[in-house]
Amino acid sequence: MPSTIIEPFRIKVVEPIRLTSRSERQRYLEEAHYNTFLLDSDKVIIDLLTDSGTSAMSARQWGGIMQGDESYAGARSWQKMKKAVHDLTGFEHILPTHQGRAAERILYDYLGGKGKYFFSNTHFDTTRANIEYTGATAIDCLTETGKHPEEEHPFKGNIDIAFLESKIREVGPENVGAVILTVTNNSGGGQPVSMANARAVRQICDKYGVMFILDACRIAENAYFIAQREEGYRDVPYKEIAREMCRLTDGVIMSAKKDALVNMGGFLALKDEQIANACSSTLIITEGFVTYGGLSGRDMEAIAIGLEEVFDPDYLHYRIVSTAYLGNKLTELGVPIVKPVGGHAVYVDARTFYDHIPVEEYPGQALVADLYLQGGIRAVEIGSVMFGKYDEHGRLVPAAMELVRLAIPRRVYTQSHIDYVAETFAELLADKHNSRGFKITYEPEFLRHFTAHFERL
Ligand SMILES: *Cc1c(COP(=O)(O)O)cnc(C)c1O
Repeated sequence: MPSTIIEPFRIKVVEPIRLTSRSERQRYLEEAHYNTFLLDSDKVIIDLLTDSGTSAMSARQWGGIMQGDESYAGARSWQKMKKAVHDLTGFEHILPTHQGRAAERILYDYLGGKGKYFFSNTHFDTTRANIEYTGATAIDCLTETGKHPEEEHPFKGNIDIAFLESKIREVGPENVGAVILTVTNNSGGGQPVSMANARAVRQICDKYGVMFILDACRIAENAYFIAQREEGYRDVPYKEIAREMCRLTDGVIMSAKKDALVNMGGFLALKDEQIANACSSTLIITEGFVTYGGLSGRDMEAIAIGLEEVFDPDYLHYRIVSTAYLGNKLTELGVPIVKPVGGHAVYVDARTFYDHIPVEEYPGQALVADLYLQGGIRAVEIGSVMFGKYDEHGRLVPAAMELVRLAIPRRVYTQSHIDYVAETFAELLADKHNSRGFKITYEPEFLRHFTAHFERL
């Protein structure tokens, strides 16, 4: 049998891509203040900004859209979604939300507040923002190997258990809002977390009476890695692996825009009835009634189907292997990337790629701008623009890594699109010493990367 891993689907509906010239892109980027979040999508050729809400839905999901029950209360589509979420998580208390961060806001507002601490492998940006917004403190506890882009390890998303325990003792268990395990670890390179690590977190949480929350955005992709890399899981179905991980926790938050293969949606699933009741009240005030949250019936229908499709072995194999395909191509070219390649994205180490640009001049932002100018490719900086802070003298406290994320939308691009991306990198490499850094000319207080303005130095 041929060795090429083909896309395990045929294309039934197409969406044209407008091809732009470099001079057009120069103008568009200036108009967007060099922030690719501020670019209109029709000015982008290959959009690798995010894998969030950008999936192509299947014919079955589109069929489900027509079946959506739009009743205000107790809709049939809600029953289907609830059943699918219950089947995955095992929890009785399930709250639908319009996306992941709404679930985060509701839960972390309840668990957080001034004097509370949250620990995670790496807090995703909306997770951190929702925690800090309540006055609580978010502390990352990633293992040392996870912080080194070049180091190979099967589970670089793991939490550092010893560090976690020392931190819980330091702040006092009564002041811990929750331990949040993010699978896969989005902000830390899309790296997987092992079942052994999740079990160890459970033990620590039991020992100190602390709540354990799973951020399950990419739990199917994480399950694939566990099957491939962890002793004893080779023959366990992906869905079973995901179930086992959920059952170690006290609650699951998921943005359905990732591994539920839909364009909008999310949920919060909880073990504890009292917390669920409190969260339900907030849900009703801010999102919608408990049987729809912020979702249409048709959205819930598509989520129920997507949660099933994502565990299809052919899909998951294609998904992980095709992401690695881009990573391997870049490695062959000599582009430094986070290794091994994660599930949903390839992360380029921009600090090494543009080693002549100091961290204070945001090498990641420079690479993002250059990718767009050269090839119309939209990527995102995950470095000091996203996570940098200022000290009391107004000096930049840089992020641990300066990464550029090339997120791969699910079931959207073909191999030739990805080849084009690799070729664009080859062109950038040839001219890399001429790139220059950036300064920030405008920034808001929270999540500055979404709306900041930049100027080329
Ligand atoms: C996307 C994401 C979220 C937030 O979900 P939204 O649907 O974008 O609000 C939270 N955590 C992780 C790990 C994510 O990837």
